[in-house]
Amino acid sequence: MSEQESFVEELVNKSEDYSRWYTQVILKAQMADYAPVRGCMVIRPYGYTLWENMQRLLDARFKATGHQNAYFPLLIPESYLAREAEHVEGFAPEVAWVTQGGSEELEERLAIRPTSEAIIGMMYSKWIHSWRDLPVLINQWCNVMRWEKVTRLFLRTTEFLWQEGHTVHRTEEEAQEETLRMLGVYRAFVEEDLAVPVIYGQKTESEKFKGAAKTYSIEAMMGDGKALQAGTSHNLGQNFAKVFDITFQDMDGQRKHAWQTSWGVSTRLIGAIIMVHGDDAGLIMPPRVAPIQVVVVPIWRKEPEREAVEQFVAKLQSVLGSTVRMKVDWDDEHTPGWKFNEWEMRGVPLRLEVGPRDVKNNQVVLVRRDNRAKEFVPFDAVETRVQQLLAEIQQSMLQKAQQFMASRTRTADSYEQLKELMTGDAYAHERGFVLAHWCGDADCEARIKEETTATIRNIPLDAESHEGNCILCGKAGIGKRVVFGRSY
Ligand SMILES: [Zn+2]
Repeated sequence: MSEQESFVEELVNKSEDYSRWYTQVILKAQMADYAPVRGCMVIRPYGYTLWENMQRLLDARFKATGHQNAYFPLLIPESYLAREAEHVEGFAPEVAWVTQGGSEELEERLAIRPTSEAIIGMMYSKWIHSWRDLPVLINQWCNVMRWEKVTRLFLRTTEFLWQEGHTVHRTEEEAQEETLRMLGVYRAFVEEDLAVPVIYGQKTESEKFKGAAKTYSIEAMMGDGKALQAGTSHNLGQNFAKVFDITFQDMDGQRKHAWQTSWGVSTRLIGAIIMVHGDDAGLIMPPRVAPIQVVVVPIWRKEPEREAVEQFVAKLQSVLGSTVRMKVDWDDEHTPGWKFNEWEMRGVPLRLEVGPRDVKNNQVVLVRRDNRAKEFVPFDAVETRVQQLLAEIQQSMLQKAQQFMASRTRTADSYEQLKELMTGDAYAHERGFVLAHWCGDADCEARIKEETTATIRNIPLDAESHEGNCILCGKAGIGKRVVFGRSY
């Protein structure tokens, strides 16, 4: 067995054991590792660079829509968290508490933030007095902690990184506009920068954020047909404003409660990138966020060859180095074949090979990670061609994922059909989303969930109106089909 084959063999086949493939890819690509505390994760430099690239692009979108960053404390006094009843009830089972400082027991327990509505609401009540103080458009990048029982790298960990936007508005309409604006920002970011298509829509009453008036989400389909809630945007109404007393004097001189929103995405999106784009050879990074966009593998056998290749690569670096994130793999210990596999596994979108023959012909070899297409490019055209290919890869990754989602999205006109698609024989290989009519009743939703494990992912905002009857009870539907799916 050649070295190349043995390397590939280490990675389990995606179609054979999706969940093991997922974990193996993360560990082998050095994206993350397990931490000593169960459910915690170390994000290694390769994974963290990806997160930094994602952060930079999303942060620019926040700034472009008028938001600023701030930072609020990690610890929240229990009495603050307890003020919004639904909110505390929703989060209580997963809150981690600080009860002791040094050797002294604290008078009041402090929650490690599971989310920051409570502490931020309390500060807003102090800062907001007049309609002139509005809107407040603040975001924070931070960590949060939720004591999860079942964890999985990036998808569900006890501590995770995210951003949480918290805004305050004068009117209900403005808050609703903001809620949908940020859902749109998420959708654009995830589709354009991560090449992950989403369904965007409103969550049902039973699936909404605890304490919100309305919750909206973007839902992505993973490579195994399951849904991943990739981001949420909440219209909080006046719920938190009332319990934290966020009031302002309006233009008419009246004192009124403010209207709020909150919205967040997390390192969970890294899990989405891995699951949507990866294949049997490993990861495929979307060029816009890839930690390394181009990896150069120099090829030489004897000494004079190496020197010629080195000089050529130095020339390449001066041309490409400032426009793309590139790495030259000069490692002496491994063969070029080993390196090809290694960088394929880590998902670098473009590989550039340079050997003595290429130097002589003043050209390079470019190989795409997504479809392995290979081409020879003259040195003078490299800069332009690399940019073109990175853009093409980004585009075709999105198209491929869109086609997959479309092919795995089906319509069910009866409960039998939904059950078959969610639990029957077809499910094992062809699982996906199911569009079906629902009456809007939480009991029907709960029974479908109990019997099929499928939940209503959301009520798509852009779905065409369509009249039909609830597939379970037969009563009139809500006027459009909703999206059912099993989820992570
Ligand atoms: Zn019904």
